[in-house]
Amino acid sequence: MLTCLCCGKQETEKVLLKDIVYFKKLVSANRCQTCQSRLAPLANEVTCLGCCRIKQDGNDWCLDCIKWKKTYPDYPFSHTALFQYNSFLKEWLENFKYKGDYRLAKLFDQELTDYFNAKNQKNKKCIPIPISQASMELRGFNQVEELLTSAGIEFYPALVHIGTGKKQSSKNRKERMESDQPFKLDEKYCKQLKNKRVILIDDVYTTGRTLFHAAELLRQAEATTIETFSIAR
Ligand SMILES: [Zn+2]
Ligand SMILES: [Zn+2]
Repeated sequence: MLTCLCCGKQETEKVLLKDIVYFKKLVSANRCQTCQSRLAPLANEVTCLGCCRIKQDGNDWCLDCIKWKKTYPDYPFSHTALFQYNSFLKEWLENFKYKGDYRLAKLFDQELTDYFNAKNQKNKKCIPIPISQASMELRGFNQVEELLTSAGIEFYPALVHIGTGKKQSSKNRKERMESDQPFKLDEKYCKQLKNKRVILIDDVYTTGRTLFHAAELLRQAEATTIETFSIAR
């Protein structure tokens, strides 16, 4: 019997025949069939090469990425997002991040473990996007660090938030695009990033601005490659 982490519904666990045939490691599910069906995996979609947004037209790159490429011509643009930011993800984030139900950090344990423990991800350093001091005081936890901790993924909090703490969500799109560098490198970690491959991790990719600011600093720390990752896009 599983109790859904999102809606509390109880359900008998189903073992799929394909999981038995392919010897897939059976991990106890933490969401019911209904909640599962509300998730929209981006792996099933045709997405922008730069930011994983579902393609709006026939171009490989979305208009935002084309604009970013002009500002950051040397940036590799390699973003992976797992799910489309839909009403289900919005509710999850609302309850987890803003209402502080940190049990919900467990919701993507399986997906995060699968992604970060894959062979091609070995030896990369995971760096969570930090939150402002004001948000930390309000919430008491960094939602990205909670997600990684819950999934058992090692990370390096190499970035420190020095911004005003005005919430991204309370800024309009133009303000978000133009905001100044909100982060600095934590001296302790600078040397450890030199010549290392890094993955910057955020919960949601909105405009990309946050990740670009962070990536700029990691380039200064001489990381060899920089990739970005988010649960939702
Ligand atoms: Zn449910
Ligand atoms: Zn894009």
